[in-house]
Amino acid sequence: MTVFRTCRPSNNRSFQSGESIVNFDQMGLSAPILRAIKEAGYKTPTPIQAQAIGPALRGKDLLGCAQTGTGKTAAFSLPLLQRIDESASDEPQVRALVVTPTRELAAQIGESLATYGKHLDDLWHTVIFGGVNEKPQIRELQAGVDILVATPGRLLDLLGRKLLTLRHVQVFVLDEADRMLDMGFLPEVKRIVSALPRKRQTMFFSATMPPKIRELANSLLHDAVSVAVAPVSSTAERIDQAVYFVDKTNKRKLLAEVLSEIKSARTLVFSRTKHGANRIAKFLDKQGVKAAAIHGNKSQGARTRALEGFKQGNIEVLVATDIAARGIDVDGVSHVLNFDLPNIPETYVHRIGRTARAGASGIALSFCDLEEREYLVAIERLIGRHIDRVESHAFESSSKPPPLTNLDSRARGPKPRSNKAKSKTSRRPKARRGGQRRGSRPRT
Ligand code: AMP
Repeated sequence: MTVFRTCRPSNNRSFQSGESIVNFDQMGLSAPILRAIKEAGYKTPTPIQAQAIGPALRGKDLLGCAQTGTGKTAAFSLPLLQRIDESASDEPQVRALVVTPTRELAAQIGESLATYGKHLDDLWHTVIFGGVNEKPQIRELQAGVDILVATPGRLLDLLGRKLLTLRHVQVFVLDEADRMLDMGFLPEVKRIVSALPRKRQTMFFSATMPPKIRELANSLLHDAVSVAVAPVSSTAERIDQAVYFVDKTNKRKLLAEVLSEIKSARTLVFSRTKHGANRIAKFLDKQGVKAAAIHGNKSQGARTRALEGFKQGNIEVLVATDIAARGIDVDGVSHVLNFDLPNIPETYVHRIGRTARAGASGIALSFCDLEEREYLVAIERLIGRHIDRVESHAFESSSKPPPLTNLDSRARGPKPRSNKAKSKTSRRPKARRGGQRRGSRPRT
C-alpha cells in the first residue's frame, strides 16, 4: 500500500497540548450547541475542528484529511446540526445525510449527534445499517427524520424500494472515504451521490488521499476548503511502543504473561483474522481473563454487547480484527496489543491510535514472529522510528533478533506478501448478518 502523504497538516499543533487557534465560542456556534459541547467536557477545539467548523457553518464544501481520533466527528456534526436546526420545519425530511463504511462508525456518529444536539428541540436523527432487522429502521424513517446516518448497502436498499428519498438533502457528509474504497463500496457511494440534489453542501473526509479518492472528491466538491491534520504516521509519536520477538507457537503464552504484568483494565488485542480473534478470546477466558472477541462474523448484538462490556469495564480484554475495531471509540484504552503484526503498515498506526484517543497517551505492544519481521521493517519506516525491543522476556524467539531497520532506506519496504489476510478482514461485509440494534428513535 502506498503511503499517501498528500494530507499536509496546516496546523501541526498537538491535540493534547490544549493549544488551539480559536475557542468554541468564537466560531459562531449557537448557544444550545455550545452548551452541549461544554457538557461533553470539551474545552478547546481540536485542530480539525478549529479549521473546519467556521467554513462549514458558512455552508462551504469541505475536504477533510483526518482519521478517527482527531475529533473529526464533531468537526462535521456541529455545523451540520446547526445548519439543519436553522432550517427546521414542522415536517421532518432527510435534510442531512452522513454515509460511513461500518456499522460501528454509524452507531458512534449517531451517538455523537445525540450528544451534541441534545439541546436542539424538534430535530430527529436515525441510524441505518445492514445486518439487522430493517423494520424498526423503516418505521423510524416513516416517522420522519431530519438527519440520517447510514452505511451504503442498507441505504441503497431502502432507497431502491422507495422507502426514503434524498431529494431534500442539503448537507451530505462522506466519512472515511478511503475505507469505502478498501471495502469495495465506491460504486455504491456513486449511486448514492446520484440520488442527491446537485445543490448541497458536501463534507468529505478521508484519512488518506489515494488517486481514486481524490478523483471522487473532485467530482463531489465545489470550491471546497481543504482542512488537514497530522497525517497517519505522526499519530504514533505520543504512544509508547515496544515489540517482543517471539515464536508463533509461544504467542499465546506470552500474551497471558504480558497481560498479567500490565494489569490493565482495558486492553485491546488485535488479531489479523477472525478465527485468530476467537481463539485468543477463548484462551484468555480459560486463563481467567474476562475477554470477548469482536469481528465481522459476530452478530451485531454480540458486537454491541462486547463493546458495552468493555466500556463498562466488565470485559478486560477485547480481541478485535481491524475492520471490527475501525472507529471503535472507547476512551481509556490503556494498552493496545498486536498479537499479529499487520501486513499493511498504516493499519499498525490505526490500531495503536485506539490507545491515544483525543490526545491521551498510551502503550502499544506488538508480538513479532519470524514471518512478521518484514512487516516490522515496513512499519518502522512508515513511522520513521525504531520501536523499542523488549530485550529479555519469558518466551524469547528461537531465532536471533533482526538488525535494526534502516529507516533512511529509500526502499519502500516489503510489499504485503499477499492480499489474503487483508481481504479476510477488509472484505465488504455480507448484507444481513444476524443481530439487532435498539430501535428507538433518537432525538438529537
Ligand atoms: P473522533 O475523531 O471524532 O472519532 O473523536 C475522537 C474522540 O475525541 C472522541 O472520544 C471524542 O469524544 C473526543 N473529542 C472530540 N473533540 C474533542 C475536543 N474538542 N476535546 C476533547 N475531546 C474531544
